[in-house]
Amino acid sequence: MDTAQFVDDLDKRVARAAFGEPVEVLPSLYLVRVPLPDNPLKAINSYVVLGDGDETTIVDVGFNHPACERALGDALAVLGRSWEGVRIVLTHSHPDHTGNLDRIWQPGMPVFANLHSFQEVKNLMALEEAVYGPLLLQAATLEQQSAMTFTDEGPRLHVSAELLPLESYPVFTYVADGDRIACGPYTFEVVETPGHDAWHICLYERSRRLLIAGDHVLERITPSVSSWFPASNALAAFLSSLEKVGDLEVDLILPAHGRPFTGLRERVSFLLGHHRERLEEIYGLVRAGHDDIVSISQHATWRYPDWKSWPLDQKFFSMGETLAHLIYLVREGRILQGICGDEYYFRMPYDRKNVALAKQ
Ligand SMILES: [Zn+2]
Ligand SMILES: [Zn+2]
Repeated sequence: MDTAQFVDDLDKRVARAAFGEPVEVLPSLYLVRVPLPDNPLKAINSYVVLGDGDETTIVDVGFNHPACERALGDALAVLGRSWEGVRIVLTHSHPDHTGNLDRIWQPGMPVFANLHSFQEVKNLMALEEAVYGPLLLQAATLEQQSAMTFTDEGPRLHVSAELLPLESYPVFTYVADGDRIACGPYTFEVVETPGHDAWHICLYERSRRLLIAGDHVLERITPSVSSWFPASNALAAFLSSLEKVGDLEVDLILPAHGRPFTGLRERVSFLLGHHRERLEEIYGLVRAGHDDIVSISQHATWRYPDWKSWPLDQKFFSMGETLAHLIYLVREGRILQGICGDEYYFRMPYDRKNVALAKQ
């Protein structure tokens, strides 16, 4: 069977599968759809690899939500496995990939991640909050402001329980570029792919030419990339992580959302092109005189019009994206960043020629 036909057949079987019903991708390697209730992504794909004895590796685990716990429990039961033999691999820190650990983790269960401890994630979130708090207030309509929480640290976005960071503190086994994780008949190489998340990894099975891609490369969705301060140039990291996986020999991409697909190089060049265009658009807005994040986000082109009327969480994500592009341009030296009070502003660099002309 050629790859296109294989993917087509797999796609049909995935589409028919209920949540928690394992779909065989290759021998001992299963895709399990785990629901993400009340979330636009609808589901996450966990990948389950059967090893010797009872050893079972699960890549990404879903939200902190009973429906996610149930789906993985059902999948293990169908596969004749128990939680006792489970090892977890996390592609990154986001709550749709990690939150369920608060439910399923038990002492002794190994967790592999590009993180030493979840405290690292919480530390970064605290730093970011200091930047986006004032921005949210500025971006919110009066009605949205009344729905925000105000703490000593500033304004906060209301988030539902399953979106909160991990509370439990499992001991993580730190994995980095080039480390190998053997699972049953497969050996996955860890490929660090920071960008969508600072701790993102993909898992590459070189001999099978397959890539468990997490949220780094998805078939239809453009993975979100956000930065909230100049020390974190997430877009530069994301673009070089795209080039890095674009160089791998891959026939099948197993993403965390949406369908398995082929054509990694094409998808990578589409995403690179998308961000290059976006950088020019954002640069053009700064050149036209838009100097703050709210104004630049509001005037950028998005899939949905009328930015001002968007829900506050969508404004939050779009401002994070805008800022990631702005920081990239600042680091390239194409625009300048200043700080006024606790807010950033952006402008074109000092231009000698213009100053000389103005004097004449
Ligand atoms: Zn993610
Ligand atoms: Zn995700």
